[in-house]
Amino acid sequence: MKTIYYLLVGALLLAIITFLAIRNITVQNFLIDFDANRMWNNIGKAETIEGDNLVGIVCGSRGPLPGAGRAEPCIMIKTPEHMFIVDTGDGSRTNLMNWQVDMGNLDAILFTHLHSDHIADLADFHLYSWVTQNRQGKLPVYGPRGTDKLTNGIMAAYELDNAFRTLHHGEEVAPSDIAGFETTIIDLDRPVIFDDGNLRITAFKVKHPPVNPAYGFRFDYKGRSIVISGDTDYSKNLIEHSKNADVLFHDALSYDMIGRAEDVARPLRPTLASVFADIQEYHASPVEAAQAANEANVKELIFYHLIPAPGNMIAKMIFVRGVNEVRSDNWTLSDDGTMAILPVGSEKVKITSIK
Ligand SMILES: [Zn+2]
Ligand SMILES: [Zn+2]
Repeated sequence: MKTIYYLLVGALLLAIITFLAIRNITVQNFLIDFDANRMWNNIGKAETIEGDNLVGIVCGSRGPLPGAGRAEPCIMIKTPEHMFIVDTGDGSRTNLMNWQVDMGNLDAILFTHLHSDHIADLADFHLYSWVTQNRQGKLPVYGPRGTDKLTNGIMAAYELDNAFRTLHHGEEVAPSDIAGFETTIIDLDRPVIFDDGNLRITAFKVKHPPVNPAYGFRFDYKGRSIVISGDTDYSKNLIEHSKNADVLFHDALSYDMIGRAEDVARPLRPTLASVFADIQEYHASPVEAAQAANEANVKELIFYHLIPAPGNMIAKMIFVRGVNEVRSDNWTLSDDGTMAILPVGSEKVKITSIK
């Protein structure tokens, strides 16, 4: 009885002290410094992974349909020397800032295709890797035909913003000569778009008509490998290029959920129902993605670009309906922050989170 009394008095005292402390300016300033240090030290989890690894991080796990706590498609690939971003969906740059990723080390942005949900944050990636960062040249961007229209368009739209930044902060902080992009249109006659002897990036075609071409990318690093599908229906060419990969990040659309959404929308909003019908034609279902992973003998399948974005446990359960019957193990339904770590010289695939 006495113990309960002391506990209650202790809890009450703690509540009073907290109530008063958070109103105290010195305590508030300490909290500001603590948070600023957390935000700006640029040594998030991605920077502190020990050893030689190929790492893939989901910086955006949903498709274009909204979903709380999820950004549009983005995968970050990291080795000790290099960092690439594949697609820059809405909210992905904010994710990377929140995870204290040092964007000054960004080698290039790769676009799988130019759908709006894959390009929305490009201007923010440009700014975030430019002002106060140590980028030494214009930001390299690789993508399909039309990528130059995108990068030139962004530069035209942000011409004044870029000029204001340099005027305000000076050439040292926002150097005008490295503002902008260095754009390369991917040509499948030369599918290897990067190779430094350790890390090789290969582009290949996937199935996302009428978007043509739409690409997937394979990253090979010292015997470890990650494949990113971009947006695709079940694709034989993707299977071909994913052979024996350690990790496959594959887009997934639940036909069950979007099919029912289509039926419900039909009498209420027929045009929306038509869109729901159309999008089922050019994305793989989770079961099809699992089949593709099996045929390619992939070690770990990670679903991303989730349509619709499952917001709770029940939705997640429905989303992966049927997957276990095709592939009973070695698959992950990603969230923003899902991270695959592949140590060099091992067969291990460690699935964790950057958060
Ligand atoms: Zn998409
Ligand atoms: Zn698309």
